[in-house]
Amino acid sequence: MGAMRTLLLKGSQNHWLATRVPRRKFVQRAVRRFMPGETLEAALATAERLRGSGMDTVVTLLGEAIADRTEAERVTAHYLDAYERIERAGLPTEISVKPSQMGLDVGSDVCAAQLDALARRAEEGGGFLWVDMEASPYVDATLELYRGLRERYAHVGVCLQSYLYRTAEDLEQLLPLAPSIRLVKGAYSEPPSLAFPRKRDVDENFMRLAKRLLSREARELGVRVGFGTHDMQLIDRVRDFAEGAGLPPDAYEVQMLYGIRRSDQVRLTAEGQPVRVLISYGSAWFPWYMRRLAERPANLWFVARSVIAG
Ligand SMILES: Cc1cc2nc3c(=O)[nH]c(=O)nc-3n(C[C@H](O)[C@H](O)[C@H](O)COP(=O)(O)OP(=O)(O)OC[C@H]3O[C@@H](n4cnc5c(N)ncnc54)[C@H](O)[C@@H]3O)c2cc1C
Repeated sequence: MGAMRTLLLKGSQNHWLATRVPRRKFVQRAVRRFMPGETLEAALATAERLRGSGMDTVVTLLGEAIADRTEAERVTAHYLDAYERIERAGLPTEISVKPSQMGLDVGSDVCAAQLDALARRAEEGGGFLWVDMEASPYVDATLELYRGLRERYAHVGVCLQSYLYRTAEDLEQLLPLAPSIRLVKGAYSEPPSLAFPRKRDVDENFMRLAKRLLSREARELGVRVGFGTHDMQLIDRVRDFAEGAGLPPDAYEVQMLYGIRRSDQVRLTAEGQPVRVLISYGSAWFPWYMRRLAERPANLWFVARSVIAG
């Protein structure tokens, strides 16, 4: 792992920085590149605009590791209202949540109750609930929560990370449930005992998992697949594999973050590839933004430019 990436990921967990950095105006300006605004209204207005360009969306309220049940319930209430608004506006917008923001640190039962309320609401209104995957200590509990949800609801998906050695096995265990899977590389700082340290191996594992997700067996089971990556080489390799297997372009979605590789998002959409853009919003953006910087330390240049812009 690069020294800068390690530094930025360490910084993402630093409380002192988290309370000070977001107050700086130049940081707020730089953040806007990845986040249209802090409110749900801003996120949904962007979803409306992207729908006009033929793209689907998924929204997420930033925040993680909350410490009490009341806060988890507040987040749930916020998302229930979001489903209501999405439904009223007829938007092709799904919701993605972090288990630690839904109370996983307080108790698995607390988190399960929040997720259940959201999944039920999603199912009733024709919506969809994605469960993010966080750092490795959360993986077992998150998969357990997802299994519980999937036994009761169809409109639920979970994220898997190709940097973890365990993911191939996790995927095999999930397949009989006909899961919905968003495959990503993984955004956290993980030790080499748990995760491939080299990018090349993470990419190769991504490809192996992608092939399994698009295999005849997975398709016959009814697996829904989203590839959450901006890596155009990987996206091309997935497309070549899918075409070679005779799959239609809508056999899977490409999911990208708002503000990253916008021109590729437009181009893929024009080529008939379903694209879903993840729009983040909320005031607790510091650790999330640091992870975006870590993914591409060149993004620090945008922070620097915002300082210069005054
Ligand atoms: C829809 C979606 C949902 C996600 N959900 C999760 C989750 O639940 N759990 C999790 O651990 N991770 C999640 N991630 C993050 C993911 O794990 C990666 O950290 C992130 O996508 C960067 O990796 P990459 O696949 O784009 O490939 P990389 O090899 O990191 O990047 C490929 C290319 O994309 C561009 N790029 C990538 N990131 C940036 C950036 N921040 N700024 C500018 N350009 C960039 C660069 O040109 C880079 O060369 C999600 C990502 C997406 C798109």
